Amino acid sequence: MKRIYYPEPFRIKSVEPLRILTREEREEKIKAAGYNVFSLAAKDVYIDLLTDSGTGAMSSSQWAGVMVGDESYAGADCYYKVQENAKRIFGLPYIQLVHQGRAAEKVLLPVLLAGKKYAIANMHFDTTRAHVELAGSRAIDCTIPEALDTTAYHPFKGNMDIARLEEHIKELGAENIGVIIMTITNNSAGGQPVSVANIRAARDVAHKYGIKFMIDAARYAENAYFVKQREEEFRSSSIAEIVKAMFEGVDCFTMSAKKDAIVNMGGLIGCRDKEIFELVKQRCISFEGFITYGGMSGRDIEALARGLEEGIDENYLRYRIGQMQYLAARLDEAGIAYQTPVGGHAVFVDAKKLLPHIPYYEFPAQALAIELYREAGIRACDIGSYMLGNDPDTGKQLEADFEFTRLAIPRRVYTQSHLDVIADALINIKERACSVKGYQIVEEPPILRHFTAKLKPIE
Ligand SMILES: *Cc1c(COP(=O)(O)O)cnc(C)c1O
Repeated sequence: MKRIYYPEPFRIKSVEPLRILTREEREEKIKAAGYNVFSLAAKDVYIDLLTDSGTGAMSSSQWAGVMVGDESYAGADCYYKVQENAKRIFGLPYIQLVHQGRAAEKVLLPVLLAGKKYAIANMHFDTTRAHVELAGSRAIDCTIPEALDTTAYHPFKGNMDIARLEEHIKELGAENIGVIIMTITNNSAGGQPVSVANIRAARDVAHKYGIKFMIDAARYAENAYFVKQREEEFRSSSIAEIVKAMFEGVDCFTMSAKKDAIVNMGGLIGCRDKEIFELVKQRCISFEGFITYGGMSGRDIEALARGLEEGIDENYLRYRIGQMQYLAARLDEAGIAYQTPVGGHAVFVDAKKLLPHIPYYEFPAQALAIELYREAGIRACDIGSYMLGNDPDTGKQLEADFEFTRLAIPRRVYTQSHLDVIADALINIKERACSVKGYQIVEEPPILRHFTAKLKPIE
């Protein structure tokens, strides 16, 4: 089998030592954590794949920026720099800093949804859905059906189902819909990309009915890289040109800079319409801080301004997406199923297929996450029935469409050897899969239980 190998386009200047516990120690730690990976201390984890959000490694240039970041309350130098870079990259005239992605949603969504009943998206990320609901509206997902089949190939599994979008608009009434949102890449569908053609089609439908069109831009750069690889029209375009094409004619965007802008904290809002931007600025002052710092320290703004540029470097993106492809190729060799083709920020292992003897109500994806910790000190998380929780009306465990164990890869943090440890651990677990047990919950809070519940193995 052909090895996919795009070496790291950097060398390492500063290292953070990691402790590797023995198997016995890990056994004790996970038991003491109530078999909940969120309750593990990070220092007891060897490879932490819980999330790719805010966990990236900054470059020497970004660290240098931390020293020159201007901490003035108003009109700091770094504010002008981030404005200039964001306007050039995204092509929208008005940019507001905020402290992270959900802050952007909290500030912008109530403006777009005022007096409206619905938001429609290719798929809402959890915090986006929460802020649509907090604004008193309902969030409707409209992903193409191919996204639900983990084994089927589709170059743009994150796409919006355009025909259904238009049906929804006709059924619900255009006047009741505040915004149409395109999440790029489609995080909840497995970091799957959206084509520029699909963005344009969704935008044109929105505008045909006089509805605002917004991009949730957390992974703008990874999406652009997939477009270059897979969409004929853009084969010879630069990443910068593709990002411009993705944002053409878009009314607004929200962005968590903790992903593709490779900073540990930060976010942005972009607007084309001056009236909307005036409201955004007012709300920003109430919730985040004065408009020129928006809840961020100057040093973090400076790192963000530089990270926006580094995120769209094609050499970096080739290595970044190459890491997912390398890990996926190793899983292919071993016959381990995952959401295919592999997405931009994570490998979503199909735990239902790896542990077929564990039913959804005994949480196969959680069982696999626990097994990865036992096997090699790897921390992954369940995106399945364990995370979904109980039916609020009947209290009965719900069955999720997927039982995924998500391996989210932080940016520029782990080497190819670490990826081999991950692949080898999964292969070892596969060999003894039939001895892996399911879990039952012994203690759970009523909402978002997966963060704090306690479990025990079923003997
Ligand atoms: C992470 C993320 C958010 C929320 O951003 P935070 O910085 O975590 O608040 C919103 N949308 C998408 C698609 C994300 O991945």
